[in-house]
Amino acid sequence: MALTPFCSPPPSLCSSFRSLRRGLFLPLLQAYPYTTSKGAVPMPETALMALRFEVLGRFNRARAAQLTLPHFVCQTPLFMPVGTQGTIKGLATNQLEDIGCQIILGNTYHLALRPTSELIDELGGLHKFMNWPRALLTDSGESSGWKANAPYTRGVYSNPSMCFTLAYFGYSCYINRIGADIIMALDDVVKTTITGPRIEEAMYRTLRWIDRCIAAHKRPYDQNLFGIVQGGLDPVLRDICVRGLVDRNLPGYAIGGLAGGEDKDSFWRVVAQCTAALPEDKPRYVMGVGYPLDIVVCSALGADMYDCVYPTRTARFGTALVPEGVLKLKNNAMAEDTRPIDSTCACMVCKNYSRAYIHSLVSKDAMGSQLLSYHNLYYMMQLSRNLHSSIVRGKFPEFVCNFLQKMFPKGDVPEWVCNAMEVAEIDISSCRARFRDD
Ligand SMILES: [Zn+2]
Repeated sequence: MALTPFCSPPPSLCSSFRSLRRGLFLPLLQAYPYTTSKGAVPMPETALMALRFEVLGRFNRARAAQLTLPHFVCQTPLFMPVGTQGTIKGLATNQLEDIGCQIILGNTYHLALRPTSELIDELGGLHKFMNWPRALLTDSGESSGWKANAPYTRGVYSNPSMCFTLAYFGYSCYINRIGADIIMALDDVVKTTITGPRIEEAMYRTLRWIDRCIAAHKRPYDQNLFGIVQGGLDPVLRDICVRGLVDRNLPGYAIGGLAGGEDKDSFWRVVAQCTAALPEDKPRYVMGVGYPLDIVVCSALGADMYDCVYPTRTARFGTALVPEGVLKLKNNAMAEDTRPIDSTCACMVCKNYSRAYIHSLVSKDAMGSQLLSYHNLYYMMQLSRNLHSSIVRGKFPEFVCNFLQKMFPKGDVPEWVCNAMEVAEIDISSCRARFRDD
């Protein structure tokens, strides 16, 4: 089928992307065929130029890279705050720039419902709409919501396969209008705690959908379509899905369906399997992760990108992220504590406000959760920067040990972390020594 871009690329593209756009991509796009999962047709080579991934340093499986996207040059490993509705709750975009945020995540489903992708497109795309000059990634959001509610599917729901197909083309239309630097394919997500044939069905459906998404994608010259590896906790299904997606030669890959209540040992083993099988020269994104400890472990295993609502959600419940774990500002012990949240933190909140002041605000004034969100996201950005620099400087094991010693001062590092670090070949024996001596 002939595909023609339905709107012009945003004027904010950097010059290299602009030059690539001239004449190179459009003929390829128009010639690019619609395919089914029976005959995987990879993305055109030139379409990969909307992203450049250069590994700057490695330590065993861990890597630090420069990820060049149309709107920003990012350093990995990196954490993406979640802005479901085009906003990180309680923070202005200039504050996100201040704390060093490189890329934020939007939710296509929610944005398509409000304010609608048509309006975002009319007003110049999501970057301009929310006044965010740096990189954006959009995730599908609710796959069940797409199936049931996408306008393209209304009235044809009696035919499920037709419904899925139409939802997919509708979805592609939305993600192209919103205009994020990275756009996630629509996948069929099943909770990892579910077992049986539903997991296999979802994995194969995810593979079929990637072909429809490739075919319907109208802006590969400035938007990078990432595939999502599904397959639950089954290593055979994960392997089939990884191979299927790698055959499509996508700009990047995500490991999906995790952080859904599975045990931690299963979690890291899926990450380790997928990162080992995904291409060395493409970014790897673990979706829905997560806790600082999870990010350190996944980075040791070779993952590059993460997102999670946790830092801002836990802030709204009065909890701050600190090197020792968490600090609960609602606690009465904070009422007269004049120290900052974290004396080692250089953020605006820790420089200017006491625990006692924030304690007086939490649950009573929006400023309390705003200050905590600011600090928590700063903590995640600093964690990303420390991961990157320690890998580049060849000091990654020292960083991991220092991180674990602060979080587990008694040496009681969880068994799953020890198992993962063994596979990552990071020696953490010094963090456990005191525990073993007890
Ligand atoms: Zn701080």
